[in-house]
Amino acid sequence: MRKVYFDNNATTPVHPVVAEFAKPFLGEFFGNPSSLHWAGREVRCFFNDAREQAANMIHAQPSEIVFTGCGSESDNHAVKGLAYAKRDEGRHIITTMIEHPAVLNACKHLQADGYDVTYLPVDGEGQIEPDDVKKAIRNDTILISVMYANNETGNLLPIREIGEIAKEHGITFHSDMVQAMGKTDIDMDSLKVDLASFSGHKVYAPKGVGILYIREGREIESLIHGGHQEGSRRAGTENIMGAVAFGKACETITKEMAGENGRIETLRGRLLDGILERVDHVRFNGHPTRRLPNTLNLSFEYVEAESLLIALDLNGIAVSSGSACSSGSTEPSHVLLAMRIPPETCQSAIRLSLGRGNTEEDVDYALSVIPGVVTGLREMSPLYKRP
Ligand SMILES: *Cc1c(COP(=O)(O)O)cnc(C)c1O
Repeated sequence: MRKVYFDNNATTPVHPVVAEFAKPFLGEFFGNPSSLHWAGREVRCFFNDAREQAANMIHAQPSEIVFTGCGSESDNHAVKGLAYAKRDEGRHIITTMIEHPAVLNACKHLQADGYDVTYLPVDGEGQIEPDDVKKAIRNDTILISVMYANNETGNLLPIREIGEIAKEHGITFHSDMVQAMGKTDIDMDSLKVDLASFSGHKVYAPKGVGILYIREGREIESLIHGGHQEGSRRAGTENIMGAVAFGKACETITKEMAGENGRIETLRGRLLDGILERVDHVRFNGHPTRRLPNTLNLSFEYVEAESLLIALDLNGIAVSSGSACSSGSTEPSHVLLAMRIPPETCQSAIRLSLGRGNTEEDVDYALSVIPGVVTGLREMSPLYKRP
């Protein structure tokens, strides 16, 4: 059976160039980069390169890059680390209803600790209004956290405008850029972002490595105390293999990006058009233009998303219902609910997220499978009346 992977927002396969580059770090290069001897020195050299490669990709300085254990850690470090550092200046945080659980649950944790959090709503297309951010600002606001790209809909949020607002008011701005990396340009020179989160496994590097960007001069509290690694911002002997792989992935996809994203966007267009041509009662969820090139969130009305996911999986096609982080639960997606999409329509939403491994054949195969599967499921649905 053909295998088609349309779940690249959940995780990506490691890029072959990256895998090859990382191999010696399971063997020959085993040193601790803090050691002064040859074993430490040779590893330190590669580790420095990785930091530089990551910085180059987002137009930052190497000293502004902190390697972490994952995107979730970066989000937690940014939100809690800033909140703790500024606890005497204020206790109010502004974020949105559609953030990743790593930001939302870090905020909930802070609420239990006496912080006050405003969760901004989105419109029917999943967009937030920069003016709403401005209106939510109070004297005691210490942090604004808004993601660059939403993992479920692929929407790009107006972080350029929000950054300007944050700067005007002297408030720290954090952005979860995990899904934006590699899919759209990120320029820390021109964005007014103080803190930003990234994850290796979303950009063709292995799982278990993330980055927290901390702009020069910004101070946040550490979450992991110990040795002096990462400029005393994140203790613990470094995940060298993860970091060098992440660095190599940054270098590699920066070169590939322009061509790949155009190709992927064309494939997604072919997939969307093909589905809309062949299947009726399909709702497009998200903003039609302000979005990533690879993501498609569609509700197949009268069909349970979980059933559709399983039926597609039986045909070798991997998609997700809601987000990978909330699947396993049958709760409708918090992102789609925030868009005021009716719960039944949320429950019938699946996400198809394409990546560098996908081909036209993948799309055509999916188009040959999806209509039959949807029709079959609808025939079993008591809610569906044949038109
Ligand atoms: C995947 C993801 C994360 C979490 O990254 P991990 O490395 O899996 O912890 C955070 N934010 C967004 C938007 C994501 O898509």
